[in-house]
Amino acid sequence: MKNNSAADLTIALPAPAMRAIALLERQGFSSCAVGGCVRDSLLGSEPGDWDIATAATPAQTMECFVDYRRIATGLRHGTVTVLLDGMPLEITTYRVDGVYTDSRHPDSVHYTGSLEEDLARRDFTINAMAYHPARGLADYHNGLRDLREGVVTCVGEPDRRFEEDALRILRAVRFASCLNFSIAPPTRQSMLRLCGRLERIARERIAAELGRAVVGPGFGRAFGENAPILFQVIPALGELNRRYPALWRQTLRQVDRAAPELELRLALLLGNLGAVCAGNPEGGAFAGAVLRGLRFPGNLVTAVEKLVALRDAAIYPQRRELRRQLSDWGERRFFQLVRLRRARLEAPEVHGERARQREELDRAESMAKALLEEKPCLALGDLAVKGGDLLAAGVPQGPQVGGLLQYLLGLVLAEQVENRRDALLEAALERRKKMERTGDAPCNTNLLLKGRKDLRGIIVPDKAKDAGGLSPGKDDNAVWRNNTRKAFDDLMED
Ligand code: ATP
Ligand code: MG
Repeated sequence: MKNNSAADLTIALPAPAMRAIALLERQGFSSCAVGGCVRDSLLGSEPGDWDIATAATPAQTMECFVDYRRIATGLRHGTVTVLLDGMPLEITTYRVDGVYTDSRHPDSVHYTGSLEEDLARRDFTINAMAYHPARGLADYHNGLRDLREGVVTCVGEPDRRFEEDALRILRAVRFASCLNFSIAPPTRQSMLRLCGRLERIARERIAAELGRAVVGPGFGRAFGENAPILFQVIPALGELNRRYPALWRQTLRQVDRAAPELELRLALLLGNLGAVCAGNPEGGAFAGAVLRGLRFPGNLVTAVEKLVALRDAAIYPQRRELRRQLSDWGERRFFQLVRLRRARLEAPEVHGERARQREELDRAESMAKALLEEKPCLALGDLAVKGGDLLAAGVPQGPQVGGLLQYLLGLVLAEQVENRRDALLEAALERRKKMERTGDAPCNTNLLLKGRKDLRGIIVPDKAKDAGGLSPGKDDNAVWRNNTRKAFDDLMED
């Protein structure tokens, strides 16, 4: 951030925002850019959206933009969205919030012509600045100083501000995490004292702030120093900390090390909860229940559930196994699991067992990438024979067709047969003959790896001889040994 004085600071407003301000001011309504866009511009990052604050009432704003597409988004809060040259701008009337009796919403809001009053109702000093292309920065609460020093500070008296709206407690942690800021001690003490009030906040709003906080570069510090706030919204993590404090600290470090991807980081944050849900060894389901309780979107919950369920699956540089994993999990999840494992493995020490596992993981990742370059057959749709080919070769219509295709896919994944039409047809017909002799159903080659899947979906080989497909020999025993060893390692401290 530039070290200019407030008067010299300039922000390049996008043309539509400039036009909106000019249009409103031509009608006599003082207006400016405000909040997050001013903060982000001063930090030198691209704002996600540009919010305009104005002395015009919503009705007057609607009138000013009569020639444009307008959406009365939040008339109750004084907000009109206007579409200018394809850019949606939220234009909100300067307002003062009335009393809050429920820790959530003001009982009333009233409009004001004063920008200063509007800025005073905003949550943190860094969010309470406004910028006008001619008049420059309006900063009544030392927001610029706090931005330079990297601190989140309440506008006004913290207790009163958090009592008004408890969501601000989680917002403070979100800004600390996303901007990698600290929190001013009086603000922080007040947050810790009042975080019980988060109970009164709608879970969707908590999930929205939490989701953003989790992917911040300062996650570990923000939540490490303010853990009771996280424990308030996810009590199971509090339990984890109470029973296994070292594992909780390790969890924070693991999340911090991971790429800022929501699914991945949530899987790391909640993945160790298996340790506190005795009687429920399915960590994935537990993580899913926590997220569902917070009303996170269903597709995100499912993705995290799957990642947690597979977190202990061994990923090691063995071509056939990698091919099967790419097929079973899909390319995206496979590489997410690689990143998840890496975040769990990377520890300060460079030698020893973890360094070896890390090196093995790196090799597995490059091997999987090389494998994908070959455009391998990974799914039924990639097979060189289709159902119609089997019917033409005399297989009767019915479940056998699907069963045989699945069987062929297993053979191809195991690299026992090439993905060529003639080779596959021959294998299918041979299999049929064998089935007719023995009266078997066509089976998924996955099952030819004699054994059972354990709770994490890992095949645990048993001692039975193979059923004529793959030989469950050294490789599978190596997988099992690896899994057991890794599961144990992970429970140990970094
Ligand atoms: P982001 O980059 O996440 O959008 P933002 O600062 O724009 O950050 P918003 O949630 O979009 O955050 O809110 C816009 C502005 O409204 C904030 O900058 C702040 O001034 C004000 N604000 C938002 N929520 C609150 C709140 N709960 N209490 C007080 N002021 C708030
Ligand atoms: Mg915003």
